[in-house]
Amino acid sequence: MHELSITKTMLDLVVEQAQENGADKVEGIRLVIGEMSGVVDDCVRFYFEFLSKGTIAEGARLSFRRVTPKARCRGCGKEFTLNGLDWICPHCQTTRIDIVEGKELYLESIEVP
Ligand SMILES: [Zn+2]
Repeated sequence: MHELSITKTMLDLVVEQAQENGADKVEGIRLVIGEMSGVVDDCVRFYFEFLSKGTIAEGARLSFRRVTPKARCRGCGKEFTLNGLDWICPHCQTTRIDIVEGKELYLESIEVP
């Protein structure tokens, strides 16, 4: 489970950013998670509740924005949404594709009072 270290890193960043802004509490945290990043929301939530205890981020509301995977075909150069495990260009049927979106994992914003 790599969610534990991800959540820990995210929490450190949140606390750091809140303190830089002079806040003594964090109300909400917004994360962007690509569907191909392999990160499970519920795991992050679980670890967050556990790790944030006693920090200024305790009790903060977590929200997630999922990013649908997108690929670009190396053959015809078109971009398309990836559906499940069908890694084939719908335009020219080649399997030579590059993932351009969907592996994201970052902190989008935090809410402080
Ligand atoms: Zn193509």
